Amino acid sequence: MRSWWGWGTVDQAISDAECVQLAGQLPGLPDTPLPVPDPADLDLPRPRTQPPASLASLCSASDADRASHAYGKAYRDVVRALHRNLPNPPDVVAYPRNERETEALIDWAADAGVAVVPYGGGSSVVGGVEYRGERPWLSLDLSRMDQVLDVDATSRAIRVQAGTLGPALEDQLRPHRLTMRHFPQSFEFSSVGGWLATRAGGHYATLHTHIDDFVASLRVLTPSGVSESLRVPASGAGPSPDRFFLGSEGILGVITEAWLRVQDRPAHKASRSVSFPSFADGLTAMRAIVQAGLYPANCRLLDAGEAALSGASADGASVLVLGFESAHVPVAAQLDVAIDFARQHGGTPAEPSANDDSAVGSWRSAFLRMPYLRDGIARMSAIVETFETACTWDRAEELYASVRDDVGAAVQRVTGAPGMINCRVTHVYSDGPAPYFTVIAPGRRGSEMAMWDEIKQAASESLLRNRATITHHHAVGRDHAAAYERQRPDPFATALRHAKTALDPAGVMNPGVLGI
Ligand SMILES: Cc1cc2nc3c(=O)[nH]c(=O)nc-3n(C[C@H](O)[C@H](O)[C@H](O)COP(=O)(O)OP(=O)(O)OC[C@H]3O[C@@H](n4cnc5c(N)ncnc54)[C@H](O)[C@@H]3O)c2cc1C
Repeated sequence: MRSWWGWGTVDQAISDAECVQLAGQLPGLPDTPLPVPDPADLDLPRPRTQPPASLASLCSASDADRASHAYGKAYRDVVRALHRNLPNPPDVVAYPRNERETEALIDWAADAGVAVVPYGGGSSVVGGVEYRGERPWLSLDLSRMDQVLDVDATSRAIRVQAGTLGPALEDQLRPHRLTMRHFPQSFEFSSVGGWLATRAGGHYATLHTHIDDFVASLRVLTPSGVSESLRVPASGAGPSPDRFFLGSEGILGVITEAWLRVQDRPAHKASRSVSFPSFADGLTAMRAIVQAGLYPANCRLLDAGEAALSGASADGASVLVLGFESAHVPVAAQLDVAIDFARQHGGTPAEPSANDDSAVGSWRSAFLRMPYLRDGIARMSAIVETFETACTWDRAEELYASVRDDVGAAVQRVTGAPGMINCRVTHVYSDGPAPYFTVIAPGRRGSEMAMWDEIKQAASESLLRNRATITHHHAVGRDHAAAYERQRPDPFATALRHAKTALDPAGVMNPGVLGI
């Protein structure tokens, strides 16, 4: 059973005793975890609208459905749910089974002035699935549209419905010996449509990073009609319709289907970790590896704090986790070349082992367990959240130092304690890295969200000042809209507003997202 307030499934959530144990590492927190409320006890405001009888069977206004669709899964969402702070849940949650039913729901909403918020897996961390305006609103849950509809094994492409979650997608590809290999950390509980609408980043460090790279064609249901692009391997015919809808976060319509490029399943894998005396040395080694034209599937640099937290190293070293894979050719030689580059920049490789080396293994299990741990320490009123960015190599070291200084000062000011500000580089390009920061600090019960918002403001200002993107893969949503407006070119913003008006004349599609 899915958790209505936190990450994943109820049976995987950490126990009260484990919450208390975790909190022991941060002084000054309460002794007991916040209790998890039952949706029936939330006293939600009454629904302000209801769908016509013809759509009623697709819709729910139960407390459980409305509460679980009120927010995404950011720290501030978890904290608000735990504090029973749900003043504006959706009035209706709808579960269409196909495009025809989706269209009928959007038509009704446009006529009735009801805002429509598409909901894939609901794992947004930027306020993407939460409406903050005055209108009644409909959460359009696409989870019943979860099928792979076509497999073109010759061209290695699939046609898939938008509501398909990561594991269901891979399950349907396995009999064909195919795989997408798009693995965001939220893979288990995020959908194809959500990935496309937010331009998600998988855990591949190079080459296949963003979902954009997998897209062959999109089918989008806008309030003004269906847009379907021609499926071709490449095209130079004008601006790309796919690029236009990728990252549109539901403001232009609902992505209902996509043709996506898939891959043969990998048969060859090799991985190893390398320790560096400093984060800067690790960055230089990463740059050398990627600029030499090597494309590791995994190339993550953990700073000393992150390495200690994930169990990859306890001696103050930074750790580079390297992994290569291929369906067709052995990759051990590529790993050896990458390790040579790392050695030239002061790296010390771990001893090779028959399996994954232990640092790689412990990092991977910590990665998947992390969201459950986050929820556990959030229940103890700690502040625990992440933010991510990308910049060019010439600014990377300065960005790292500057963000840690700025956010460190904000954490000290807001919480009275230094807290932890850790960083890992999750993706790497020939012209720059994508650093990902984690902040952990003691919060005050009842003020956690306000405290985080102030720290986040400092983080965003630091990114803007350092000319780094406000988001590399977490999307814009409502939370990043103001910073996004400061980074996007004005003529582009004008064009986007006009496009929105043309495709969604009633202005019902996810109002407020992307600052539109
Ligand atoms: C623990 C955790 C780990 C995460 N790790 C990653 C990561 O590694 N990489 C990454 O990129 N992100 C990550 N995220 C963020 C999130 O998972 C991504 O943004 C993901 O792509 C959202 O997919 P979803 O199906 O959950 O979309 P939702 O959260 O349901 O929706 C996200 C946005 O897209 C819109 N939308 C959803 N479906 C459609 C559709 N079919 N048509 C039009 N609009 C639509 C929604 O209205 C909303 O604005 C993480 C989040 C959490 C909580």
